[in-house]
Amino acid sequence: MLTDTFGRRFYYLRLSITDVCNFRCQYCLPDGYQCDHDRKFLTLPEIKLFAQTFAKLGTEKIRITGGEPSLRKDLPDIIDTCKQTDGIKKVAITTNGFKLPEHLPSWLEAGLDALNVSIDSLDTNQFKLITGHNKLNTILDGLDTAFAEENLTVKINTVLMRQFNFGELERFLAWIKSRPVSLRFIELMQTGDNATFFGEQHVRGETIKEYLLKTGWLPAIKDKTAGPAQEFYHPDYVGKIGLIMPYSKDFCQSCNRLRISSLGKLHLCLFAEQGHDLRPLLAENDADAIADRITALLGDKKVSHFLHEKLTGATKHLSMLGG
Ligand code: SAM
Ligand code: SF4
Repeated sequence: MLTDTFGRRFYYLRLSITDVCNFRCQYCLPDGYQCDHDRKFLTLPEIKLFAQTFAKLGTEKIRITGGEPSLRKDLPDIIDTCKQTDGIKKVAITTNGFKLPEHLPSWLEAGLDALNVSIDSLDTNQFKLITGHNKLNTILDGLDTAFAEENLTVKINTVLMRQFNFGELERFLAWIKSRPVSLRFIELMQTGDNATFFGEQHVRGETIKEYLLKTGWLPAIKDKTAGPAQEFYHPDYVGKIGLIMPYSKDFCQSCNRLRISSLGKLHLCLFAEQGHDLRPLLAENDADAIADRITALLGDKKVSHFLHEKLTGATKHLSMLGG
């Protein structure tokens, strides 16, 4: 099992397969995707080698992310490849869900276990204002199908922003009253590109937590291997809440994930100073050498991110790495 110098264990890989995205989320790519490199994203054989190598190092879960992962036509093959890897128990994707009804059947057939869909507003106009696309109803239709799948875990990611959707907090809660879904409120993070937006729109995760506790939500007991999300449940609600509060004290103590960028770089933290290029080793097809390099690099993982000091590392926006 991959373990760092602070005793944290890493059984979870977040694998970005593209940095291209078709949405223009205000906090991420407000001007749309701009390409600043030749688009040589990880190929299926490279992804297979990464999955096998990480699995040998104890990784049990792979989340496929982006950019928008569903823009890759071979996404079902990527899901299948990860799922067929010995040792990988769970394959998840994070998506904006822009064609969810059309895509979901092939993802399920490929063996998808968990689906996170990002929805920042339940109001069609506001959704369009935030993302640049009028896709809310399509995504909600796809979600209804997803909820009916017994073996699929469904989560919604929502970034609350002071002026865009904070006023919808109660609407979101009402929406999960009868739906079997975990709604994750992700605290807006500052990245290299969004400092002004962050200053205007950031809502403290603690503010949301205080509201939940005041309105009868109860903190769930955390599993030892659980990641940084704080979970809440309510006796009157079918759905659950997960709060992801990167600015909270000790957030990084429960870090259980490593990241690979779509260009094959290992990022020890979402806000690391740099990624470590593993592609030359991939080209040699040497799984042992890749495993040794990952293990050695893990020794450099820092105890925490430095977001409080407004140090965002190499991360200009989360589309670069997948969140
Ligand atoms: N395109 C896919 C999507 O939006 O679900 C996957 C990639 S996206 C970078 C992954 C997650 O990161 C999304 O849920 C998105 O809302 C979140 N995200 C992006 N930028 C963020 C920021 N600055 N602060 C907090 N969350 C952010
Ligand atoms: Fe695209 Fe996801 Fe970023 Fe929105 S959050 S612009 S959907 S990568």
